[in-house]
Amino acid sequence: MDTFAVVNPATEEVIAHMPRTPVEEVDLAIERAAAAFPSWRAVSPDDRARLLRRFAGLVDDHLEELAWLEVRNSGHTIGNARWEAGNVRDVLHFYAAAPERLHGQQIPVAGGVDITFKEPLGVVAVIVPWNFPMPIAGWGFAPALAAGNTVVLKPAELTPLTAVRLGELALDAGIPPGVFTVVTGQGSVVGERLVTHPAVRKIVFTGSTEVGTSIMAKCAPQVKRVTLELGGKSANIVFADADLEKAAAAAPHGVFDNAGQDCCARSRILVERSVFERFLELLEPAVTAFRVQDPSLPTAQMGPLISASHRESVASYVQGPVAFTGQAPDGPGFWFPPTVLAPVAPSDRAFAEEIFGPVVAVTPFEDEAEAIRLANATDYGLSGSIWTRDLGRAFRVARGYESGNLSVNSHSSVRYWTPFGGFKRSGLGRELGPDALDAFTETKNVFIDTEE
Ligand code: NAP
Ligand code: MG
Repeated sequence: MDTFAVVNPATEEVIAHMPRTPVEEVDLAIERAAAAFPSWRAVSPDDRARLLRRFAGLVDDHLEELAWLEVRNSGHTIGNARWEAGNVRDVLHFYAAAPERLHGQQIPVAGGVDITFKEPLGVVAVIVPWNFPMPIAGWGFAPALAAGNTVVLKPAELTPLTAVRLGELALDAGIPPGVFTVVTGQGSVVGERLVTHPAVRKIVFTGSTEVGTSIMAKCAPQVKRVTLELGGKSANIVFADADLEKAAAAAPHGVFDNAGQDCCARSRILVERSVFERFLELLEPAVTAFRVQDPSLPTAQMGPLISASHRESVASYVQGPVAFTGQAPDGPGFWFPPTVLAPVAPSDRAFAEEIFGPVVAVTPFEDEAEAIRLANATDYGLSGSIWTRDLGRAFRVARGYESGNLSVNSHSSVRYWTPFGGFKRSGLGRELGPDALDAFTETKNVFIDTEE
């Protein structure tokens, strides 16, 4: 079979070759998933829960192995990679509690009984990008399996190794063959076939807004269900009354974590004009102290970018006013230093477009109304942060900012028990949290006539 090389982005060494699965084999995987569906949905709720808990337990037993695979394949810092593997475990545990709680309703009606069922959809395809290979996969497959669906998972070609290992661990846990299948290969081949194959009833896609838009259009002829988690250009809004020291100290992690390859990266910092210079003075030492290192070192706060071509794309945004930059190693690896652009005009490309690298645009604003207007001045609406000591203002701005996930006086990361997703072109639907099962089930209403 045709294969592709998997590269360590911190060293540029080839670490594996993986199959480029051809369309005929994708079809076979989908057919096996469809064939496995009737018996998987019929597994009793307590047994399905037990299998998912066992899968979670095996992920925990292999946490170090999975984390080190991600360090080598994705250049993630070892600290982050351990969190990511732990997140898969936790998401599996969280949704392992769902099968026995997939309640319907009993609704009062005259002359009979009315009840609802939450029915699984069938085969669900989960298409994952390269930036967070493990968590994003788990946010799709864990609730999908818990609701009684079978899953075909396609990792990004650049980062397939942890997904393949998770597929093996699912089998080891006793999840039957065909219930959870990992298929490696190209988006234009494997991903495309998952979207067009009629036996696939739902696509869970995370990636670029461009590809997500085309997938939504291709799902329309079959009215195929779709959840989209797309790009972001999130604002970190700093008011003059905020704890400026704390806001400046937290800002680098808010945007440079995972080398800025995070759809929630706070890649625009909007600062009230009266404290603009002061904030930049406080930000500079925090940025220069940010440790960009070999990601296997426990001290590393940031590793390399994912690929040479991505580094070129990131570099194309660094024109105009570079206020200051941090450090990055020399030599092999797709390194890029943390870079602060300031002051950036709202008309600049770096203000509105997703860079997906360690580049942040800092822009002044005059008052609360302008802060909200600038925060909303992109096509995206995924995340954001608000720094102020005024509680009323924090709520006003949070309500005015058209974005799915906001934090006040912090840059909170995604919690698996709270809903996650985007406004506007950042996506469609919500993942995680208490309601994720709704995205993997159809509600069926049944009326039973009890008249004599
Ligand atoms: P991408 O090009 O959209 O790819 C995402 C996934 O879709 C990959 O597995 C890719 O496969 C596959 N794919 C590509 N073309 C396809 C097609 N025509 N049909 C079906 N599948 C296809 O995005 P990326 O370059 O991997 O990731 C970066 C982007 O993802 C950024 O814009 C970022 O904001 C976004 N993102 C969003 C979130 C979120 O939660 N909102 C999270 C992470 C990333 P191959 O790459 O293997 O070809
Ligand atoms: Mg791509």
